[in-house]
Amino acid sequence: MGGAVRDALLGIDHLDWDLATSARPEVVRKLFRRTIPVGIQFGTIGVLDANGHMHEVTTFRRDVHTDGRHAQVEFGVSLNDDLARRDFTINAIAWDPIAERLHDPFDGQGDLERALVRAVGDADARFEEDRLRALRAIRFAARFGFRIEPATWQGICRSAPHLGRLSAERVKQELEKTMEQVRRPSTALALWRESGAFGTLIPALANVPDRYLLATDALALPGPRTRPLRRSLRIAALLCALDGKAAPRVLRDLKFSNLDISTVGALVNAWRTLGPEITDRLLTGAPMPDAALRRWAAQIGRLRVSAFGRLASAMFWGADAAGEPAPSASRWRRVYRRLVTIAFRDPLDIADLAVDGDDLRRAGIPHGPMLGRVLQGLVAFVLDDPTRNVPDALTSEALRLASAKES
Ligand code: ATP
Ligand code: MG
Repeated sequence: MGGAVRDALLGIDHLDWDLATSARPEVVRKLFRRTIPVGIQFGTIGVLDANGHMHEVTTFRRDVHTDGRHAQVEFGVSLNDDLARRDFTINAIAWDPIAERLHDPFDGQGDLERALVRAVGDADARFEEDRLRALRAIRFAARFGFRIEPATWQGICRSAPHLGRLSAERVKQELEKTMEQVRRPSTALALWRESGAFGTLIPALANVPDRYLLATDALALPGPRTRPLRRSLRIAALLCALDGKAAPRVLRDLKFSNLDISTVGALVNAWRTLGPEITDRLLTGAPMPDAALRRWAAQIGRLRVSAFGRLASAMFWGADAAGEPAPSASRWRRVYRRLVTIAFRDPLDIADLAVDGDDLRRAGIPHGPMLGRVLQGLVAFVLDDPTRNVPDALTSEALRLASAKES
């Protein structure tokens, strides 16, 4: 049913088959030994098989009331009624395993052949029922390399001003699915921009330049295990179009987790701070002394250097693909290797210093805000030259800094 049949016809693996039946939810619960009422108000029962895998079984249903966000459903309808409430013709195909035939009342197979995303029935009406469909259409088109049928595209554009009605959670999920499922997210994100979806949902990205969208395409990491990383890096690449304050605000508004906000936020911030300088030095062939690389590594944070390296490669790739000047990948790779070595070899932050606060207090520097400033000053001191990271040199520099700050 739905996505699984579509993917099977396209020759793509699809992990979970959604099952549909005329039997009402109460009956489904009685027929199988182990069931979970996952969405009983919408007619969906989870049936556990002998291996404990869950299969979703949903009673044929029809929407009786929708407000662009939620739907109330009614049971006791036919399979064709159920297919008619689905969003796109390619998602409205069912396989009948007993009769061994497809039910395809809206010619979804024809649209699969034509490589076309087309709303079931009247596009405007379907998008009014559920505004999320506008974003789903874009995702399916980008994922399968399909075009969007003109009336459907018009419906998407006319929906764009109303997308603010969607909950942050659904928008976040759509953005994440796009980053996880689409090989070249820029094709989807460009349509978010062109349709006006960004203008409504993330106004700061309303006119986002191509190179940030293209940068997301460069971050394709294979395998399901790396999926969260690919997603975060791709989101970071997109948000590099914003300044260091706006990016975390966007993530917070979309209800991203605090962990995502801090990791993605830190990467965006590092790129916004260092990107122009790094790009400039790479382009002009200016010298890259170790001290500069230490300063960069300190700013990025030792444990984020590898993610930053990928992000920077993607940003250069995106700029190049957009026809803007960009350093070559090999040049950046050489600098990046040095950056990693330095990050794990040299002292970069207060915890790496050969003296700590107690040592400095014993040397006569009072506790308090002054101590913090002196420690920061010592970090800058060793970033210039890591051989200074020995107690004697640090203590005398600390005393010098303290007396300079007092006067
Ligand atoms: P994915 O690979 O993203 O899971 P999918 O097509 O399986 O793609 P689901 O969100 O899992 O998408 O939904 C399963 C099916 O339910 C869809 O194929 C479609 O028929 C129907 N459906 C899902 N969301 C909507 C919606 N917002 N409006 C109408 N029909 C929908
Ligand atoms: Mg699915």
